[in-house]
Amino acid sequence: MNEQTILHVEDEREIRELVGLYLKKEGFQVAEASTAKEAFQLVADIEPTLILLDVHLPDIDGFEACRCIRQTTEAPIIFLSCKDSEMDRVIGLSVGGDDYVGKPFSMNELLARVKVHTRRYKQLQSAVTQEEPSSERHILRSRSIVLDQKRYECYVRGELVQLSPKEFELLAFFMKHPHQVLSADQLLQSVWGYDTVVDTKTVSVHIGNIRRKIGDDPKHPRLIVTLRRVGYKFDADVY
Ligand code: CA
Repeated sequence: MNEQTILHVEDEREIRELVGLYLKKEGFQVAEASTAKEAFQLVADIEPTLILLDVHLPDIDGFEACRCIRQTTEAPIIFLSCKDSEMDRVIGLSVGGDDYVGKPFSMNELLARVKVHTRRYKQLQSAVTQEEPSSERHILRSRSIVLDQKRYECYVRGELVQLSPKEFELLAFFMKHPHQVLSADQLLQSVWGYDTVVDTKTVSVHIGNIRRKIGDDPKHPRLIVTLRRVGYKFDADVY
């Protein structure tokens, strides 16, 4: 697929038209939905490269919609909302969103983020589809965890665990750097690849998600240990 299609889910026509105009000028194809239900159908039909998702939709709450969409695609999801509070950001990221832009937003900022995420998604797609000659190279192992970097699958004691793409990349980064103290800034730069869009709170949210999903005790984590004011450390041997 050469063309990159952005699905814009927004019930306000004026915003849809304005954003659509800019995206098309940048060479993107644009599909539009005004309700979450329309969006579900389009995600299945056109397999968008990226999804812009309004938090306030007439039929289903945007966060709930995100959860549903995440079950069928790994395409990046950027939330758009006027409720630009820390709480919303945290919820947005914990339901599988990749980024969050508060309304009113500058079109340049939105375009910059769309480009960052589509580029990364394309890289991810080509990495997944490329045939790897040695089958073991894309497998990362610790005592109880196996990551298949080709399929983006995580197994804990043989059980498949669903991680979002970012959670997966973060855990993979930890597994490649065992016993090293990694600061939140370091993790942001290495895993997210840019430092202006998300802040270090994002890192702690994702680490919390990983702990919960792999069954590590969030109060007394053993696998990814928090070192106050310093960072995090992955301790593969104990888990
Ligand atoms: Ca709305």
